[in-house]
Parts: sequence; C-alpha cells; structure tokens
Amino acid sequence: MAFLEISDVRKQFQQNVVVKGFNLGIERGEFVSLLGPSGCGKTTVLRMVAGFESPSAGRILIDGKDVTPLRPNQRNVGMVFQAYALFPNMTVADNVAFGLKVAKRSPSEIKSRVEEMLAMIKLPHLASRYPYQCSGGQQQRVALARALAHKPKVLLLDEPLSALDAKIRVSLREDIRALQRSLGITTIFVTHDQEEALSMSDRVVVMNEGRVDQVGAPFEIYNDPATRFVANFVGTLSVLKGKVLDAKAGRIQVGKSEIIASRKIINHNVGDACSVALRPEAAVLENGHDLGSGRNRLGGTIDEVSFLGSVVRIRVKIDDDAISLDTFNNPSAIPPQRGAPVVVSFTPHDVLVL
Ligand code: ADP
Ligand code: MG
Repeated sequence: MAFLEISDVRKQFQQNVVVKGFNLGIERGEFVSLLGPSGCGKTTVLRMVAGFESPSAGRILIDGKDVTPLRPNQRNVGMVFQAYALFPNMTVADNVAFGLKVAKRSPSEIKSRVEEMLAMIKLPHLASRYPYQCSGGQQQRVALARALAHKPKVLLLDEPLSALDAKIRVSLREDIRALQRSLGITTIFVTHDQEEALSMSDRVVVMNEGRVDQVGAPFEIYNDPATRFVANFVGTLSVLKGKVLDAKAGRIQVGKSEIIASRKIINHNVGDACSVALRPEAAVLENGHDLGSGRNRLGGTIDEVSFLGSVVRIRVKIDDDAISLDTFNNPSAIPPQRGAPVVVSFTPHDVLVL
C-alpha cells in the first residue's frame, strides 16, 4: 500500500458528479502533480484529501490510516492555496505560528519553530511584517512555512504559483521542489500549467472531467500520451489529416505523400481517417542537407516564424494543415523567411497516430 492512498473516490455536488472513480497511490516523499483544465476536479480531490470536503464514496488513507471520517486538523496535512490566504491582521511570524498556537504548543517551542521555518524559507528578516508589506512571492513562501510548521505528513498545494509574475513563478518552482526534497515530504501539487507539472513532478496525473486519463513520469506523459486528450493538453502538437493505408506496417497517406509511423496504430483500420500528430522538436527543416534514409518527408511553405529567444518556432504550411517545429536560434545564419519552400522531415518513431 502506498503512503497516501486515494481509493475509488467519488464526489457529487447535487446532481453533478465532479470526481468519478478516482484512484491514486502516492509513495512516501513523492511529488505528484494533478494536472488538468479548469473545472476538471483537481481542487475537489485536494480538498477531499485535506478533509474540507467529504467524498460521496471511497476512502482516503494516509500512512496506513483511514482518514476519511477525520476533520482537517486531525489528518496531519498542510495546505497552501492559490490566493494568498494569510491572515491579514497578523504578522508573518504570527501567521506561521498560528497552527502551533491552536495545537497549544509551548511558547518556547513555537518561538524556535517559527524561527526555524522563517530561516527555511529564507525570510527571517520579515518576521514582524504584515502580509500587505510582503510581495506575492514572499507571501506564498510564508504560506508554505505556515503549512509546514506543524510537520505534516502530507503537503497539499493548490495552484500556489498561479497568481505570481512569470519570473517569480519559475524561481519559486525550483525553491518549492528543493524544499520538498530536503524535507522528504509527500506532496500533491495542483496546477493547470503543464510546464509547471512537467518540470516539478516525480509523476503527473492528468485529469479530464473528474477522471484520471494518465499517470506517469513527466517524460512518459509527454512522449507517450495515453489518450488524445493528454496528447493535446500536454505540450504543443501539430496535427495533420491522414488516412490509414496499412495499420500493421504503419503506412499513412498525408495529402499526396505517404509516411510511416513505427508506433503501434491502435483502433484504426485500413481506409480510416486518422490524425497524424508531431511534437515541435520532432520535426526538422531539411534544407538541402539530406538527413539519411528512413525518415518521413513532407514538402511545404514557411507560414510563420516566431522568435522565442534561444528557440525559433517555425510553422510550415502543408496542404491545408501545418507543422510547427522548433529550431535553435543561430545568430550567424540567415533567419528563416516566410513563404520559402521547405522540406520537413521526421522519423517514423516521432509520429503519434491519434
Ligand atoms: P478545478 O480545481 O480542476 O478547476 P474544481 O474541483 O474546483 O475544479 O471543480 C470541479 C467542478 O466541481 C466544477 O464544475 C465546479 O463548479 C464544481 N464544484 C466545485 N465545488 C463545488 C461546490 N462546493 N458545490 C457545487 N459545485 C462545485
Ligand atoms: Mg482549482
């Protein structure tokens, strides 16, 4: 049994079933993200683990103990919310001390624990400030310290970074992960941001309309999406219309050309329409230099060039569809030109058939 078990959990609000047969085991010390679009039930799952909502069916076990009937303060979990939920009328130190005071710890223990927590989040100098005197990023660090002060067994984070500026968001990502690793605390991180989930997690749970579509390590989710929903939700994908010529041999017609897909083509028969999907890093422009045999090649025209910094994303129009591909910025080369005829090439293994 895993350290945290969410077993056959369902949640219904009036007639609306928002979490359907949710199963997930999380190992001790693991960092798992719940990833999915707004409204898919992520917060509801987290609130059931925290004890703010009770499941309509199913059980939640923490460290072998069934916590389903227990109140939040009896479950030994810490939670951080999206909007800074600090008490505005209390100093940073009092915010961090709050749970310890409620638990009637001794004043000396509270004092040393608060100092320890503020040192941990690298904000010891802010102890006597009020939340409004702190930046958004600082407030979220304080919220983290408050959630961890009573040494919970499980840390629950509900989109803690989504209200912050892009730069702070990325640096706080790294800080949260480093802190989580050093404490070895079992963590569920809720986000609708795929980059956040992929970059931070040991495993990602992709949710779709109250269900789990796929659970896996970030690279598995990205490279081997289990469903069309996961493929589309995680990462950028170019989709071309195709027709299956031979499912076993992976032969697919795209426009007037034929390509080969080496991964198993499931649920498609000969003559079926299909979607041929490619990640932007899978396709390359083969301008003149032949990259060898065995690759798929499609001719097209450069339609759009987006300069992203180190990466240049190029959209190539192919018949009625388009392939977006990434090239590294090369300061000494002539930039790609709109309207230029090009050949896009990619390996049979890179083709996802959806
Ligand atoms: P997410 O966090 O993925 O955006 P939520 O878990 O907040 O999704 O919500 C999932 C669905 O449940 C939504 O349709 C939402 O409107 C509904 N919902 C959430 N909480 C309640 C509630 N207390 N009463 C009724 N419906 C709710
Ligand atoms: Mg939510």
